[in-house]
Amino acid sequence: MMQNGNVICHDAYPICQGCFSPPLNSLQAVECSSCCVSFQMETLSVLFVIFLRPSHGFTSYRSSYTYNAEPRLRLCTAGSVSKSSFGYNMYASNGPLRWHRISTCCGGAKQSPVPLSTRGAACGQPYTLTYSQSQAASVSSVTYNNGQTATMTFPKRRLSLSDVPRRQGCTFLLGEIHYHAGITGDTGSEHWLEHTGYGAEVHLVHYNRKYSGIVEATSKPDGLAVIAILIQKARTSPNSELRRYVRLVSRLKANDAKLRTTIRPLLLLPHSKEFFIYEGSLTSPPCSESVLWVVMRQPLQLSSRGLQMLRNLPRKGGRVLATYTNVRPEQELNNRLVETNFPCSDNLDAFNTPNI
Ligand SMILES: [Zn+2]
Repeated sequence: MMQNGNVICHDAYPICQGCFSPPLNSLQAVECSSCCVSFQMETLSVLFVIFLRPSHGFTSYRSSYTYNAEPRLRLCTAGSVSKSSFGYNMYASNGPLRWHRISTCCGGAKQSPVPLSTRGAACGQPYTLTYSQSQAASVSSVTYNNGQTATMTFPKRRLSLSDVPRRQGCTFLLGEIHYHAGITGDTGSEHWLEHTGYGAEVHLVHYNRKYSGIVEATSKPDGLAVIAILIQKARTSPNSELRRYVRLVSRLKANDAKLRTTIRPLLLLPHSKEFFIYEGSLTSPPCSESVLWVVMRQPLQLSSRGLQMLRNLPRKGGRVLATYTNVRPEQELNNRLVETNFPCSDNLDAFNTPNI
């Protein structure tokens, strides 16, 4: 993130996307300064347009991005929140509709999840994701039931991700994998693509290498990059690593001791590396707005039995995850820019096999 006065040129322009640590060298300072000036001028021009046109319906890449500048300046971060202090029962005093009382960030303008669509998106960006390790890299992990999901953690600095869009110059480290699941085959994903929901969603949480871990990174605007993998209900479960992950989850009990195993996390990525990206937040309190979301377009397939194993994660009091699920309702996009690395004209149906 780079700053000039009150203007943050974090990701508005490519030249300002670097992970520079102050003090800046003179060239970087000049480049950022000039882009920030451009940014200020553009913001003023858009505000002028808004003043003239009260019913502002921005659809273009540039306009929608600049219009969104104000929320981005008010970065919302918050302290840690105990997993037991919030829940997913919509009617409870600590349910998703009242999370803003637990953490004000949950009522912020850059919250997640959001509905994703190529409609209005800036498609065809030349984005890729690059891991330093091979796809079959095996890492040790520790998995436990935190009362809301199964959390799989990894030793520091084992799997590193670079070339992250909007975070050029940064390296991210895989810190955790967890999942979200619902009751039915199309209400278990937090992100929906083109009005389509899925049975579950796995999150690969990466933190910026310049921070000590996920906890510190959560409070930083460039702290986290989360890859979301959608899980589609299907007749079979062709991804062997996903089957392995589900079996591991099924061994967890409420308040269980930690399970140690090895896993090959990169094999959980779908074959197609097409994705949506946008700036958002954690999907549970404290809802810190520190996440660059990378939502993979191609879902992984999992059998009904596999999905049921995810839903049956025990909770205290004899309940299971599926009682109230652990899926946050969709949040407002608020004119945030959604980008894809595939053409808008591509048909999403190419990845979707008929549900059973
Ligand atoms: Zn998650």
